[in-house]
Amino acid sequence: MVFGNDKPIYLEIGCGKGKFIFEMAKKHPNINFIGIEKFDSVIVRALQKIVNEPLDNVRLLRIDAAFLTSIFAINEISCVYLNFSDPWPKPSHARRRLTSPQYLERYRAVLQPLSSIFFKTDNFPLFSFSMMSFVNSGLKINHISLDCHREQELNNVETEFETRFSTAGKPIYYIKAQYKESNDDKAIIS
Ligand code: SAM
Repeated sequence: MVFGNDKPIYLEIGCGKGKFIFEMAKKHPNINFIGIEKFDSVIVRALQKIVNEPLDNVRLLRIDAAFLTSIFAINEISCVYLNFSDPWPKPSHARRRLTSPQYLERYRAVLQPLSSIFFKTDNFPLFSFSMMSFVNSGLKINHISLDCHREQELNNVETEFETRFSTAGKPIYYIKAQYKESNDDKAIIS
């Protein structure tokens, strides 16, 4: 057990340079955070933040999220954050999007029942694809925002990409989606 305690574990997948995971860990000392990033050249920037200001409740993993189920046990994770995931605009690359049905099944395999996914993007095509993917994969949509920066009650913590896009005047789309006990009653949108 890497954290040495029973506190819930929240993942950020594609944590980039780590601003979000580091700020969340400071803000929520009773939660353990793991930032997942596939590129060495990016994750070293996140690591530098933790070296400069060590925190007990944050760890980083340099892996491709496609292999999540080989790393984590069933029910080990309590929550997933997907912030400004790569949009992979070509239809032939849709399976690589971190909100594709294939990835949602991987998250389901390691998440506790009824866990939530928090998703933010500046990219409208990825936002609409993700909405359809959540619903068609049997998740319940709890909250949608067409600009989460206008909703103070979300207590938003900004990421590096988010600061860049919102400073350029772009709205930040937000979805909170929750896995259901069973997805037998799933809706279909197309
Ligand atoms: N979340 C950060 C932010 O908002 O500032 C970084 C956003 S950046 C556009 C997307 C990041 O996700 C990149 O650093 C990329 O390497 C990482 N990424 C993309 N696909 C991934 C995967 N399958 N597994 C792990 N990381 C991934």
